[in-house]
Amino acid sequence: MRAAVLARYNEPLAVEDVDVERPRDGEVKLAVRSAGVCHSDLYVLEGATPVPPPLVPGHEAVAEVAEVGPGVSGLEPGDVVVTSFIWPCGRCRNCARGRENLCERFSEVRLKGVLLDGTSRLRLRRTGEALRVFLGGLWAEEAVVPASAVAKLPERLRGRPEMAMLGCAYLTAYGAVVNSASVQPGDVVVVVGTGGVGLAAVQMAKAVGAEVVAVGRNPEKLKLAREMGARAVDVRDGAVEAVKELTGGRGADVVIEAVGSDPTVDLSVELAGPGGRVVLVGLAPVGHRAPLHLAKVVRGGIAVVGSYGARPRVDLPKVISLVERGMLRPELLAGGFYKLEQINEAVEALRSGRSIRPIVVP
Ligand SMILES: [Zn+2]
Ligand SMILES: [Zn+2]
Repeated sequence: MRAAVLARYNEPLAVEDVDVERPRDGEVKLAVRSAGVCHSDLYVLEGATPVPPPLVPGHEAVAEVAEVGPGVSGLEPGDVVVTSFIWPCGRCRNCARGRENLCERFSEVRLKGVLLDGTSRLRLRRTGEALRVFLGGLWAEEAVVPASAVAKLPERLRGRPEMAMLGCAYLTAYGAVVNSASVQPGDVVVVVGTGGVGLAAVQMAKAVGAEVVAVGRNPEKLKLAREMGARAVDVRDGAVEAVKELTGGRGADVVIEAVGSDPTVDLSVELAGPGGRVVLVGLAPVGHRAPLHLAKVVRGGIAVVGSYGARPRVDLPKVISLVERGMLRPELLAGGFYKLEQINEAVEALRSGRSIRPIVVP
């Protein structure tokens, strides 16, 4: 099969012939139908998320199950699934207490680029070298992932390549809005950042009945947020004042930070009202630290919490159901479809901000 391979950081990807082993215990082999291009892939391409190359990126996809490994139940060849970038082992302490998104085994292997058993299923045909993957290796015709990381797609959503986004952008938005922020109907939720995760969070917060303000700087993406029913504020026009005005001077109940930079983390804390929650989902390069307005956080009783994905077996089916019922609209974020050979163009479309979510259709 063919896959987009990163040989060295900051170099273009090359489409290569790759050999795939059969799935082992608890794994499934997939034929990829469509895969999203996400900012966390860019961090890997640049080495800011230091998964060692050579590797195959791509961590959200729609795929058909080609083969199930030993010990897998509830899935069979021909099933169409969405893959999540979270891989629960199902056995560690966090998995046992219902926090599969914080699986301890998964967090050990995540940056190593291997599957839960610590090994890879891919080899570069040219050299025989083992290839690593970034949470799936889905910029490829085929992939092997843990069966715990997939959820079946209902018949009527199967023909839609943009459903790939459910496995990262929307799963992350669900985790932030529902699990980490516990947004209540009528809450004022400010989303800082209008990329894939930010706009998915706008839709998610609307779906649970919040009043939503989107803060960003790209006029087209702000327009899109407005079409989704949010108020849209250009950050240069003074987001703090706009949110104060909307809330009678109080500030937001919940702020979702979906950028991952010092100024936007700082802004998010300023936007929160007393007793508010700031949920950080924007990724920064590994090792990066951000300053915090301590007096405001302490005296305001503001909870600053990180949020990482959500539970593929519990939450991903709910995300799928919200899409089925028209409450989430991933098609609004899909920005261009690319063949595997055009992978570097797809990456550039995301990097330049031209596209919110390029979709690779191998
Ligand atoms: Zn992602
Ligand atoms: Zn676990």
